[in-house]
Amino acid sequence: MALIVQKYGGTSVGSTERIGAVADKVIKWREQGNDVVVVVSAMSGETNRLLELANAISARPVPRELDVLLSTGEQVTIALLSMALEERGCAARSYTGSQVHIRTDSAHNKARIREIDDQRINADLAKGRVVVVAGFQGVDEEGNITTLGRGGSDTTAVALAAALKADECQIYTDVDGVYTTDPRVVPEARRLTRITFEEMLEMASLGSKVLQIRSVSFAGRYNVPLRVLSSFEEGEGTLITYEDEEMEQALISGIAFNRDEAKLTVVGVPDTPGVAHQLLGPVADANIEVDMIVQNVAPDGATTDFTFTVHRNDYARALEILQRIASELGARQVSGDDRIVKVSLVGVGMRSHAGIASTMFGALAKEGVNIRMISTSEIKISVVVDEKYLELAVRSLHEAFELDQPPEIKS
Ligand code: ASP
Ligand code: MG
Repeated sequence: MALIVQKYGGTSVGSTERIGAVADKVIKWREQGNDVVVVVSAMSGETNRLLELANAISARPVPRELDVLLSTGEQVTIALLSMALEERGCAARSYTGSQVHIRTDSAHNKARIREIDDQRINADLAKGRVVVVAGFQGVDEEGNITTLGRGGSDTTAVALAAALKADECQIYTDVDGVYTTDPRVVPEARRLTRITFEEMLEMASLGSKVLQIRSVSFAGRYNVPLRVLSSFEEGEGTLITYEDEEMEQALISGIAFNRDEAKLTVVGVPDTPGVAHQLLGPVADANIEVDMIVQNVAPDGATTDFTFTVHRNDYARALEILQRIASELGARQVSGDDRIVKVSLVGVGMRSHAGIASTMFGALAKEGVNIRMISTSEIKISVVVDEKYLELAVRSLHEAFELDQPPEIKS
């Protein structure tokens, strides 16, 4: 008998009909002899509605009270789902995060889970009940309600799966798995049957918003097999696990991209110790996240150029900061571009293969796509290109690496 933790997202529980369909699904898993713990999100749109209410009262709502408010969304769905299960003759119990002691730190609105008491859940499972737990919420040391940040129900599910030593954590959502890239950009994009935690982290952080990133790293840390699947269609979805010897290893698993990028360049800064810190320190202090950083060699032996990327929303602020520091440092010029995007090839297979980068650059050259920046890591190669080339770049790479073909039938 297996223990499965299932998480249903907002659209999957977006109406009473859909909650009924979720109940049917849960019962199917039960009838196949599994113990089931279900984590649910708030009904779709509900968390946003609550946020709007709070913002109508205050431009900066008190974080503690915001958590009390936001946690109600999930409380509605746990009750409705448990009723739907009982209505169908399936014993069920709903619990809020604090009732099952999902202990977090006290960082309201972005709390982190510290520990979970599995006693109550295990006792219910032993009585043959389905246990329904509110996602996205916990309780701190002092008994205050906390929430885990947007999309936090994924993390609740993974944390519960880890605490209960579940056999699998299934994330039901409105897509049927993780794709080689966004099917809206490349219609030939293929659903992956498996992907490693590492690859998924790269895909997620690069903009394939299927799962909350934190939940993926959590699952990796505790080795919880994670499966993404559709709540609306049958299918095996995508399994996220550790690399497996027997796994037919694709060279490249997918292409991720990020539209909301901007880059900034400081030209002609003195090439002396401490300059990178002087430039980037104030940017970090302003809470602006910096992604790719490139420092050029100093061609004249005296000055060098710095380029880095930030989220597009932070562009104006970063530019302002740089202009101030550049004049203090006596740099020649600050320039920027907020019409750029980042496209990345991701694959653990590239560790053991040469020539991936050159194939990538060749494919882009053939289409006349100019590469503005390049950065690499062990399992990823990213390029920055002009925004207008995004679709073309992603499509040509998808084709060049034959990602529409399953790895088995590739020679
Ligand atoms: N309801 C929360 C949100 O909309 C948490 C979640 O759905 O995972 O962000
Ligand atoms: Mg979600």
